[in-house]
This record gives sequence, structure tokens and C-alpha cells, in this order.
Amino acid sequence: MIYRTYGKTGKQISAIGFGGMRFPEPKEIEKSAELVLHAHAKGITYFDTAPLYSEEKSEEIFGHAFKQLPRDSFYVSTKCMEADGKKFRRSLETSLKRLGLERIDFFNVWGLLSREQWEDRKRGGVLKALLNARDEGLIEHVVFSTHMTGEEADDVFDEEIFEGVTLGYNAINFPFREQVVDSAGRHGIGVVTMNPLGGGLIPKNAERFNFIRSADDPDVVSAALRFNLSHPAITCALVGFSSRQEVDEAVAAVERFTPLSPERIAEIKGKVETEFEGLCTGCGYCLPCPEGLPIPQLMDTYNMRILQGPEDQIVVNRLKFHWGLTPDAAATCVHCGACEKACTQHLPIMERLDQIAEIGPRTAGQKE
Ligand code: SF4
Ligand code: SF4
Repeated sequence: MIYRTYGKTGKQISAIGFGGMRFPEPKEIEKSAELVLHAHAKGITYFDTAPLYSEEKSEEIFGHAFKQLPRDSFYVSTKCMEADGKKFRRSLETSLKRLGLERIDFFNVWGLLSREQWEDRKRGGVLKALLNARDEGLIEHVVFSTHMTGEEADDVFDEEIFEGVTLGYNAINFPFREQVVDSAGRHGIGVVTMNPLGGGLIPKNAERFNFIRSADDPDVVSAALRFNLSHPAITCALVGFSSRQEVDEAVAAVERFTPLSPERIAEIKGKVETEFEGLCTGCGYCLPCPEGLPIPQLMDTYNMRILQGPEDQIVVNRLKFHWGLTPDAAATCVHCGACEKACTQHLPIMERLDQIAEIGPRTAGQKE
């Protein structure tokens, strides 16, 4: 296993971590915990969870495994989305109880979609609750998970409150995320990436993403992990394991890891425009929209529709959880056509926006 230093904290963590978002049988606590113990035995020392993951069983599963491990042999990261300081504190206490620990190593302010949302949470008392918990020793490092833009994240890093960031980064979305990762590196902030395999979309669309594979990569999964870990600012990539075999394969991929050369990385990035046929690359050339539509975010959502499936809920969830939007955000397009003229991928943006907007009335009032 390779270990990397997490930002300025000095902590050495494994270059791949165990993401506890989707245990295959979360109600089987003992069996799921065995998978965690197997990963630990293979050298994985970073475990990421959250109260809602795996049918709300994820923290309990990790807690069951942690009881069997020396406390100084692993790091745990969990999260809280509450915007109210008192609720935030209660959620932290519940996480500690479920994990069976006296201290959480990395505690994430969960899912900050924008700078404004962070200000809202501060006003709600979250920052005070966080700092108090740190003073009491309940949290060691304060971090956040985010889908913010690079500029917004820059401002948040400048505040010097957070020591790390957790964010999605992979061969599908890197054009949207790169600025944040680069900025974190400049600020000495640890970076933990989620979804290095695009939530399974990269292996599922292996042919489309074959362009990230180098001659010595045995498969696209190894290539995707290599692509992720070759970014010098990335400390750890989280993988959601569902079997011992998957753990073994990912560990083997890290053990044979050699970073891609800057030339090869430039070559892969250069291929995005040609290989992302029909997909938005997040380049931003379509902006600004005179009506203020967040076109790249809406087109990224449409990417998911192409790669993942046509169900309305895929679009609704992507908009909500990644971009803090609803399908109505696409409804104000006046079809001026300016974005399509500028689009480097020649995408039918207006038609895609119409399709997204139509989802609004269809899903209004539905539960996720
Ligand atoms: S076509 Fe719609 S989305 Fe594109 S620039 Fe005009 S108003 Fe904006
Ligand atoms: S110009 Fe096209 S490819 Fe680039 S962000 Fe806009 S919609 Fe996406």
C-alpha cells in the first residue's frame, strides 16, 4: 500500500480509502464489517462514512469493525449536513456512538454546494459547534465535502478553517473539479476524492473511457485509479467495495501504481474533447448565458442521463445533490442560441434543456 500525507495535518493515510456509501448487504453488520477488516488487513487505513450511507447502517458497520482494531491503526471520516448548530452537535454525538469511538479523525461539513450555503450554515451555528467539538477533542480535523466551483472553494480555503476537502473527481467530471483540487493543493489542504470510478460508470462505459488507459494499465478500473492518484494534490481516492476480490484488485492496482507523466496527463486531457463525443466537457465556453442559466451544470446532468440511464430521477438527483438545482433551472432558456454557437462540443444544448425542463412538472411532488 502507498501512504500519503494528508495536507498539513501530518497524518499518513492510505492512498485508497474505503468508501462506506453502498455496502451490498448493509443489514448484515457482521458480514459487512468483515469486509472492512479485510481492507484494513490489506493496508487500507482511511474509512469514510456518513449517517445516511448504506441504509443508515454504514457507521454501525464501521463501528463493529473498529472494535476489533487498535485505535491508532485507522482513520475515520464522517459527515453532517445539519445547518443548525444544536442539531449538528446531536448528529456528531450520534455518529460517535454508532462508531463506538471517542474521537472522529476527519469530520466533514457535508455537501456544501456553494459559498452562500457555507455562510448560511455558519449563521446557523455550525462553525461554533465544530470548533467547540474540536476543543473538546471529539473531532481532530475539520474538513468539508463539496461540489463548489474553484473560485468559491478558493475563498473557503482562504478562511483557514478547513484542513481537508472531500469531493468527486474522476475521468468524467475532472474538468468541473480540477480547479478545486489545484486550489486545495496550493493551500496545503488534504484532498480525498469520491467516485474515482464515476460511481461505476467508467467500468460500465469502458469503451468510451478507454482513452484514459495507458499501455501498461491492465483495465480501465486501474487506469481510472491511476488517473486520480496521479494528481499530486490528491491524498486518497475512496472506493466503495462490495467484495474481498474488489478490495484485492484495487490494492493490487495501487501497489503497482506509477504516476502518469505530465505529458501523458496532458495527452489524456487533450483527448477529452474528441473522446467525450456527445458529452459536455465542462469547458465553460458557452457562458455567460444572457438569462443566467448554469449551462455547464445542466449539461453535466444531461451527461448522467446519457451514461447512466434515461430515468427522470437520475436527472433530479444529480441536479439536487451535485448542483443544488431543480429541473426548473432549465426552464428559463429563451432559445437565443448563443450557447450552441459557442459550444466546443457542438451539443444540442437547447433541446437538452427542454428535456430537463419537462422533467419538472412530471416529478413535482414525487419523493426521491
Ligand atoms: S439558448 Fe438558452 S441557455 Fe443558451 S444562451 Fe440562450 S438563453 Fe442561455
Ligand atoms: S461549451 Fe459545451 S461542452 Fe463546454 S461547458 Fe458549455 S455545454 Fe459543456
